[in-house]
Amino acid sequence: MSLQIYINGEFFDKDNAKISVFDHGLLYGDGVFEGLRCYNGKVFRLEQHIDRLWDSAKSLAIEIPMTKTEMIQATQKAVLLNNVNEGYIRIVVTRGIGDLGLDPYVCGPPQVIIIAAQLALYPKELYETGLDIVTAGTMRMPPAALNPRVKSLNYLNSIMAKIEALRAGCEEALMLNHKGEVSECTGDNIFIIKNGVLMTPPIDAGILEGVTRNVVLELAAQLGIPAKETAFTRHDVFVADECFLTGSAAELIPVVSIDKRTIGNGKPGPITKQLLDAFHEVVKR
Ligand code: PMP
Repeated sequence: MSLQIYINGEFFDKDNAKISVFDHGLLYGDGVFEGLRCYNGKVFRLEQHIDRLWDSAKSLAIEIPMTKTEMIQATQKAVLLNNVNEGYIRIVVTRGIGDLGLDPYVCGPPQVIIIAAQLALYPKELYETGLDIVTAGTMRMPPAALNPRVKSLNYLNSIMAKIEALRAGCEEALMLNHKGEVSECTGDNIFIIKNGVLMTPPIDAGILEGVTRNVVLELAAQLGIPAKETAFTRHDVFVADECFLTGSAAELIPVVSIDKRTIGNGKPGPITKQLLDAFHEVVKR
């Protein structure tokens, strides 16, 4: 059976899962989304993702045409129907079908799409060797322009930085905010460790409040690792003892160099490994 894609309450074969070219999700990136993980057939932190989806939609004045419970059930159905055991789920809500103008009020009901699929992860060895990253010249969007807390379909800010990363031969790029502070990477949050203290930028640095980020902060508290959400600069990353990124797709991935400066001893550090093990325990793998 080919992949079954949920669109507005029905499931369609991959080849027949289609959306109008007049949908403002396509024409303007006007919509919101979530990327979720599934472990052993169970969607990880589903409620948190659904809450964030609703918050993103509210910020953009998009009214999702179903309840949170219905969305949770639809997501679980998509997972079940596609036999996804270890996978990745994408939920997309677009503004809906409109005309060629910007006006969101002429658009039809928001379109709800759920894709439950197998996952293309970073290669396994990267979790052992760690990532090399670069700092992008592309600044993270200032919250007053379009708040990075909104997980909108317009990901061009991240894509511009991702192009810079790939051209530099790296998988990820660090993005600085409008104040020149560290914000996050193109699709992951960032953590550093210095003298045993775990640090990650606060939400008001202009970041997405990552579900995985929050799991790591919970784990740090449980493990007695001192942690703080605090503003820091690229210099702090250069001189950190350890660094790693978090995201639903990436989980926890060590970073061993930035802008050709080796971080720590150039190998994934002990606290990173401790948190990675604890994370695997949480997701029961
Ligand atoms: N920042 C950005 C810009 C993201 O797109 C993502 C999700 N891929 C994250 C951080 C990590 O968030 P989460 O842990 O909820 O997947």
